[in-house]
Amino acid sequence: MPSVTHAGIGPPTGPLAEPVIDPFGRAITYLRVSVTDRCDLRCVYCMAEDMSFLPRAEILSLEEIERLAAVFIRLGVRKLRITGGEPLVRRNVISLFAGLGTYLGRGLDELTLTTNGTQLARHAAALADVGVRRVNVSLDTLDPDRFARITRWGRLDTVLEGLRAARAAGLAVKINTVALRGENEDEIPDILAWCGEQGFDLSLIETMPMGDIDASRADQYLPLSVVRASLRQRFTLTETDYRTGGPSRYFTVRETDRRVGFITPMTHNFCASCNRVRLTVTGTLFMCLGQDDSADLRRVLRGGADDAALEQAVRAAIARKPKGHEFFIDRARNAPSVRRHMSLTGG
Ligand code: SAM
Ligand code: SF4
Repeated sequence: MPSVTHAGIGPPTGPLAEPVIDPFGRAITYLRVSVTDRCDLRCVYCMAEDMSFLPRAEILSLEEIERLAAVFIRLGVRKLRITGGEPLVRRNVISLFAGLGTYLGRGLDELTLTTNGTQLARHAAALADVGVRRVNVSLDTLDPDRFARITRWGRLDTVLEGLRAARAAGLAVKINTVALRGENEDEIPDILAWCGEQGFDLSLIETMPMGDIDASRADQYLPLSVVRASLRQRFTLTETDYRTGGPSRYFTVRETDRRVGFITPMTHNFCASCNRVRLTVTGTLFMCLGQDDSADLRRVLRGGADDAALEQAVRAAIARKPKGHEFFIDRARNAPSVRRHMSLTGG
């Protein structure tokens, strides 16, 4: 085991909880936790260039995050994804992974993260050591100049180095690529081929209207139906029944023997099988990515609540999970459907 310390909250003992069921009969088994709203990049579809970030007092400590995560695991969450902002820029974040890793096999089936990959070279081995088996790495282009433009200043080689480290550490990798009209549209078939060579699955994502950015959402938006049609000119795609409870539809790619997923929140309704809720770094629980209703778990936590009171607060929030989201791109006003940025809620 690596020499990391963690919050020291022991893993759950006793029988595993049945998952909490929401009013629409969906079992909530998946929690995404954003551990920072900060990032070392400024992707044009995600953030404005000049972002203001949250003051420290508003941000949960790593111990508070672990305590809340433990509550969710006791309530039947089986899969945890750590995200952000960029999770690997949070100081000591590996200690959080180490703490959460102790729940694997004791309620938790999977601990994973979504990262931009810039810090993966430093952290891949430690992540694998504490039980992470898979990572999602966001990468929208394989062209260094384009990468710098999309991320506003990032360097592609740091991400490629991170990917090599992930592979060396034995982590399975899925690449997340946001489809951007007129930006990486022409490159997506090459990205799929490259993923095949590297042994990576690929998820393609439509831009979602979350938070004010400097660019026009309508200009960026590229429906994945268009991308799929162009991929089919070069690849044989066969739809699978593989599901993650999220908005992805997966296809196998005969030529590469890997999977490609299409995440289409704008064009395809995925809410009926939704199994997830999202916790922000301020301890706000969002029951739906595309709706504003939330529960303030930080207030409950910092008010001195015991575990039973925290569990009750989580159950009450899940009882308000809406049936579905209401995303749409308002072309006339270029206004987001949801005011908060994806980097706050955690993608
Ligand atoms: N920084 C990490 C990363 O980039 O992987 C984790 C957080 S990021 C918010 C999670 C995912 O959300 C990334 O794959 C990113 O491309 C995607 N994303 C961010 N803003 C988005 C938006 N407005 N629409 C669709 N996807 C978005
Ligand atoms: Fe940062 Fe990820 Fe948002 Fe890009 S998508 S700005 S890497 S949080």
